[in-house]
Amino acid sequence: MRKPKLRELKEAVRAVLSGPYTTKFPAEPHVPPEGFRGKPEFQEDGCIGCGACAEACPAVALRVADGMNGDRPVRRLEIRYDKCIFCGQCELNCTTKRGVKLTPEWDLATLDRASLYTRIEHELVLCEACGVAVGTGKHLRWVAEQIGAKAYGNPTLILTADGGMALAARDGGRPGEPTLARSDSMRVLCPSCRRTNVVRELWGQ
Ligand code: SF4
Ligand code: SF4
Repeated sequence: MRKPKLRELKEAVRAVLSGPYTTKFPAEPHVPPEGFRGKPEFQEDGCIGCGACAEACPAVALRVADGMNGDRPVRRLEIRYDKCIFCGQCELNCTTKRGVKLTPEWDLATLDRASLYTRIEHELVLCEACGVAVGTGKHLRWVAEQIGAKAYGNPTLILTADGGMALAARDGGRPGEPTLARSDSMRVLCPSCRRTNVVRELWGQ
């Protein structure tokens, strides 16, 4: 008869003495270890609605949709937990590093699949000339804050950042004046309209 090797014998004795490795869930609640990647949650204070997390999400579980909600243009970010693979790329690539956090929550089992989502909404800023979305107000204010005085080089940034400036209402332009004339320089414009405005100002039509 072959004798058991000493190493295996030692392992067996240690396993008997140390008890089971598994947890007692569901008899007792399971507390995940530190650094566990569970349910991702948006953080109201840290999220600026830039959408970088959606670009990084490999499972397309985190999506961005711009649209009108009543009279108010909004950007909606949504995480579908039934698609999420809990990889943590959204948290890792978050622009502010405070917009989305993976929580230790892991028990998401439910019979109602439609309830497996979370969302956050941000007010959108639209181009005053063509109406496309420039970004969320929170994002533009955050960029202005990051670059400090340099924000004065971009009227869209500074006008959005200083919402209390109380600009004169757009007068619709003078007869015969082209769209995006000099008077439009101090307007909230998307990059495309800003370029047209600058090129027209420098080189004419
Ligand atoms: S701030 Fe972070 S969580 Fe919010 S949209 Fe941007 S990348 Fe996503
Ligand atoms: S944890 Fe991964 S899969 Fe889930 S929303 Fe974030 S990036 Fe997408």
